[in-house]
Amino acid sequence: MSKKISDLKHQRSEPIEIKIKDRIIGRDHFTFIAGPCTIENYDDLLKIVKHLQKMGINFFRGGAYKMRTSPYNFRGLGKKGLEYIKKAADETGAISVSEIVSSEDVELMSEYVDILQVGTRNMHNYRLLWELGKIKNPVILKRGMNSTIEEWLLAAEHIIEAGNPNVILCERGIRTFENYTRYTLDISAIPAVKNLSNLPIIIDPSHSSGRREMIKSLSWAAMAAGADGLLIETHFSPDNTICDSEQTIDFDILAEILEKKEELLGLWGKK
Ligand code: PEP
Ligand code: MN
Repeated sequence: MSKKISDLKHQRSEPIEIKIKDRIIGRDHFTFIAGPCTIENYDDLLKIVKHLQKMGINFFRGGAYKMRTSPYNFRGLGKKGLEYIKKAADETGAISVSEIVSSEDVELMSEYVDILQVGTRNMHNYRLLWELGKIKNPVILKRGMNSTIEEWLLAAEHIIEAGNPNVILCERGIRTFENYTRYTLDISAIPAVKNLSNLPIIIDPSHSSGRREMIKSLSWAAMAAGADGLLIETHFSPDNTICDSEQTIDFDILAEILEKKEELLGLWGKK
């Protein structure tokens, strides 16, 4: 084990459980989070959240601030998107997840969104991580696309050391020489994180593969490998979304993923 990992102070104790509303995120549980890449309007968002709840999923995702590779792509609805997220969560009782892109937004977003997500491009933005240490909302920390597991765990340590222990790690694919997929999903990050850290780890099969036809397979792989949850881009009409259509699944595929839930999660004694 390298020097820096052995220096982790906060992630050495028993696995943690993160309580949010009436739900628990942690090693004994499995958390499905699904929803669109970006919030487009309120009616579509509400329709998605209600559909997810009918399927037994009470966590929804959706970006209001988008970090797009090209400056000419849609950058999200901003504050209006946050208002829609809050309204949908209040109306349904569901738990929201949305990406935070700047330390300036921490106070505002902590009031509008239940779980704040740090995107792959911001994993090394330590000033953002320190600000997230000052709030109580759980934080999903995505792995930097070029980061080692050690760098990722140390980024989590920045948030925890700053005062917020409620960190959920999310493996979302790393850069390799392979370009058939958008990134390469590092399944081995699951057992690695379980050995090295007490934090829950979830998998994002959508951004890692970039391919709709792979989502079911990768989701099952994550469940079988002992992940604590999945974050999946889902929409009732994936071909008609503004961003990430090609990796977004519909509710039929989501239902197929859920069909194997008991069997696969049973391997790990998860609820
Ligand atoms: C997202 O989940 O909306 C997202 C942009 O993911 P990533 O930061 O992993 O690219
Ligand atoms: Mn996306």
